[in-house]
Amino acid sequence: MSETPVRVRFAPSPTGKLHVGGARTAIYNWAFARANHGTFILRIDDTDPERSTEENTQIILRAMRWLGLDWDEGPEVGGDFGPYFQTERAEMYRAAAQRLWDEGKAYPCFCTPEQLAADRAEAQARKDPFQGYQRRCRDLSREEAQRRIDAGEPYVLRIKVPEDRGDVVVRDAVHGEVSFAARELDDFVIQRTDGTPTYNFATVVDDAAMGITHVIRGDDHLSNTPRQVIVYEALGAPVPTFAHISMILGADGKKLSKRHGATNVEEYRDAGYLSDAFVNYLALLGWSLDGETTIIPRDVLASQFSLEHVSKNPATFDPKKLDWIQAEYIRSMSDQEFADQIMLPELVRAGVIGERAEFDEDWMGALVAIVRPRTKFPADVVTVTAPVFATADTLVYDEKSVAKGLAREGMGAVLDAAHAALDALDAEDWTPEAIDAALEALPERLDVKKRLVFQAVRVAVCGNLVSPPLGETMALVGRADCLPRIERARLLAG
Ligand code: GLU
Repeated sequence: MSETPVRVRFAPSPTGKLHVGGARTAIYNWAFARANHGTFILRIDDTDPERSTEENTQIILRAMRWLGLDWDEGPEVGGDFGPYFQTERAEMYRAAAQRLWDEGKAYPCFCTPEQLAADRAEAQARKDPFQGYQRRCRDLSREEAQRRIDAGEPYVLRIKVPEDRGDVVVRDAVHGEVSFAARELDDFVIQRTDGTPTYNFATVVDDAAMGITHVIRGDDHLSNTPRQVIVYEALGAPVPTFAHISMILGADGKKLSKRHGATNVEEYRDAGYLSDAFVNYLALLGWSLDGETTIIPRDVLASQFSLEHVSKNPATFDPKKLDWIQAEYIRSMSDQEFADQIMLPELVRAGVIGERAEFDEDWMGALVAIVRPRTKFPADVVTVTAPVFATADTLVYDEKSVAKGLAREGMGAVLDAAHAALDALDAEDWTPEAIDAALEALPERLDVKKRLVFQAVRVAVCGNLVSPPLGETMALVGRADCLPRIERARLLAG
């Protein structure tokens, strides 16, 4: 653990929803802060006015909350280093740019786009390997620059990369040492003609002001990092540790995109993934605990995460593995957890039961026992329990199941016999075992295949052929509703 308390940030641009890749970056920052007893900051990089929207910001905050990534400083919670929206920090960027100019570490450049294009063409023609900015305005005197500004000439501010600055070596916690030739960095623009800061400048002004100790982000930003190092040096601020994490690829080896399926966090939430399972899965895309453990509960992630175990190789998004992890989370829940966290909320959400509905404990236990093994996603709960919560009047009969299980010849007689056998059971005897035993006797007596008998009763009571075990389901439905269902189904039977 480092001496200085860890401060990390996740800085999404609200130009879209929270993407799977962004979510993983957020998870790593959060887990790193938690594992080091540090501070996790959420900053909204909304400097692109055309593409940033308030709606996207809200979607990102909602997704962060669903992921369970609580931030210590940022929107809604505040903090000592705010504001946490870049649009509200414009004055700080202007002041920092002005300071660098005053100190001779930045300078105004008046070159027009045409001039820059002509310089580039010339460099190309003379086969100069460096085709960037030719530093035309670097040595203008302060007086002349001021005179041209006063005359209304448009200008940008460029950073003055020191002449004697050798290679910029980035010590990356994931990639090791990465070296960049300072000359290649250009005297890049830090403030545009309209006075707004560029990404490389605003980010560093903020990261420095917010005391960020570790910058953990996607490796698409690795090439920006030497420029940002130059800005830290110009500002006289300590350079943080960088950790650039690999891209997430689809199964075809191409960057994960819509073509591969859902890419937004909320699509996974809406599909019924459990937040814990989803976070566990994303954490493994580029990080491992010990090279083999796949089920990593949130508290383990938050105490064991380390940058040493982040891989620099691209990770492949594997929906099957995500589903496997989801199934493991459901499997490892206790019956009570399953009922409280998945089954009941889902039934309330779907309007199947009321928020205050109360159930007999044994009945509930029996329901969980048939629902849980058949639940991969919360929505499955509604499908599996549909026959249980239906009544003889509302039960929906699946057409194909009726055709296959009920409409065939002889099934009318089967239902009559089943009705009589079940009618003979008292309410106290209405147990899965007694129901099964009553039905077991029928095939031989009627000389009908057992499979056909059970199919007919199943469709009659459950409306379809794929419901959970018949005896258990009928016990849950109750005697009082099973018999009328069979009477109703009698009209459909052959
Ligand atoms: N707003 C930037 C992005 O979303 C932040 C990059 C960074 O972490 O520096 O890509």
